[in-house]
Amino acid sequence: MPMISEANPVAFADPLPDEVDVLVIGAGVVGVSTAYFLAKSGVRVAVCEKGRVAGEQSSRNWGWVRQQGRDPAELPIVMESNRIWRGLAEETGERELAFTECGCLYLATGPEQMSRWEEWREMASRHQLESRLLTAQQVEALVPDLAGRWSGGIFTPSDGRAEPFVAVPALARAARRLGAAIVENCAVRTVETAAGRVAAVHTERGRTAVRAVVLAGGAWSTFFASNLGIDLPQLTVRATVGRTNPVSGGDSPAVYSPGLCLRRRADGGYTVAVGDLIEHYVGPRSFRYLAKFRTLLGASARSLRILVGPPRGFPGSWGGRRRWTADEVTPFERTRVLNPPPSEAVLRRISARLPVQAPRLAEAGMAEAWAGMIDVTPDAVPYLCEAPSPRGLFIGTGMSGHGFGIGPGAGRVLADLVQGRPHGHDLTRFRFERFSDGSPVVPGPY
Ligand SMILES: Cc1cc2nc3c(=O)[nH]c(=O)nc-3n(C[C@H](O)[C@H](O)[C@H](O)COP(=O)(O)OP(=O)(O)OC[C@H]3O[C@@H](n4cnc5c(N)ncnc54)[C@H](O)[C@@H]3O)c2cc1C
Repeated sequence: MPMISEANPVAFADPLPDEVDVLVIGAGVVGVSTAYFLAKSGVRVAVCEKGRVAGEQSSRNWGWVRQQGRDPAELPIVMESNRIWRGLAEETGERELAFTECGCLYLATGPEQMSRWEEWREMASRHQLESRLLTAQQVEALVPDLAGRWSGGIFTPSDGRAEPFVAVPALARAARRLGAAIVENCAVRTVETAAGRVAAVHTERGRTAVRAVVLAGGAWSTFFASNLGIDLPQLTVRATVGRTNPVSGGDSPAVYSPGLCLRRRADGGYTVAVGDLIEHYVGPRSFRYLAKFRTLLGASARSLRILVGPPRGFPGSWGGRRRWTADEVTPFERTRVLNPPPSEAVLRRISARLPVQAPRLAEAGMAEAWAGMIDVTPDAVPYLCEAPSPRGLFIGTGMSGHGFGIGPGAGRVLADLVQGRPHGHDLTRFRFERFSDGSPVVPGPY
């Protein structure tokens, strides 16, 4: 099974507490990790999930836990996250949190790309992260099964992988054992404030008094915030992915090339995607945030395909409700799990390229395909911050296509931020105000 959907039975059915210290909105990797670290510190925490734990992006991703290619501001957090991933299975006793160090390899099609990577490698080495530039011959030796002409590559040996659709529920079980309440099929509708601070959340199952709220709603965060009168620029793209049947042979690094992106799976198959096609459904927010996303759009124009209108029930669809009260059925409970259909265009590219670039994988055959909606900020790095108002509302969202790897690190940082404890990182780049205080929008590597 590659992903979690509404068809999965409810696995987390704790009663909604009347009162907690912190309520986390959304049980993806960010929300669950935050709850895990809060519970570990003895904080009373509940996670409300409108559908299923990891039902959206967090079970649908490629499973790469990569430091390579990260924005310089993200790198220290993702390096910490890499260390957390390595220890999670032992720390929690959950085998499904296994991290496999396989390394991550990006293939270069020309010298220009190689020199950009050399710059990145130098930056990484200042953080004591070892990455190597590889020649064409070294690439061939590392991934003999991948055909093609590459001018070289960049390789980070300490990068790795985990299995998304089992890992995040396993972390949720661990959080629960530490005392966190986890409630599936429980949409948070809105936040009640008193004297400028969060005081309670209203869910479809009733009210919970709180001292702090963490918004970790992935593709829905911008809509939740908007209903509170908070402008949180964020758009979504559809990313399609598939898996092959099991393939014999040894391990392999996770490999990224514009043509194909591959990673070995624990079931013996490969997760397969393309690096040159993502899709955006144009909705009202596309126009609203066009200016803020202009630079990112320019940088990703060649791989971006525009689709007309998000399907009904998708975040940001035309005619969708924008305002609601605590007593109304909200868009969150109307769409329990966002389950977009895979893109035919991506699947065609995969089936055309696999026989040429990875014939052994083509012989094994594709077993399944699925898609997820990725939440992207205008600079493709997350929000990890407290909202200016109301006080006590913290935001951990906009992971921009690379939140699985950084999820545990982001969760640890958010947990400390909420408690007012030193979190050990410079979060300036991830501040809420960066899109409204006149700062230039500088996209990180997407
Ligand atoms: C195809 C694909 C490939 C990817 N590959 C990688 C990869 O290899 N490595 C990597 O690091 N990242 C990857 N990503 C990105 C990564 O999956 C995401 O960045 C990460 O999972 C985001 O986690 P999250 O917790 O922020 O959001 P999500 O996992 O989307 O979780 C948010 C949750 O909030 C819930 N929610 C929203 N609103 C409410 C509400 N009002 N009440 C209650 N619940 C609510 C939603 O139902 C959802 O379950 C990929 C993503 C996709 C789609």
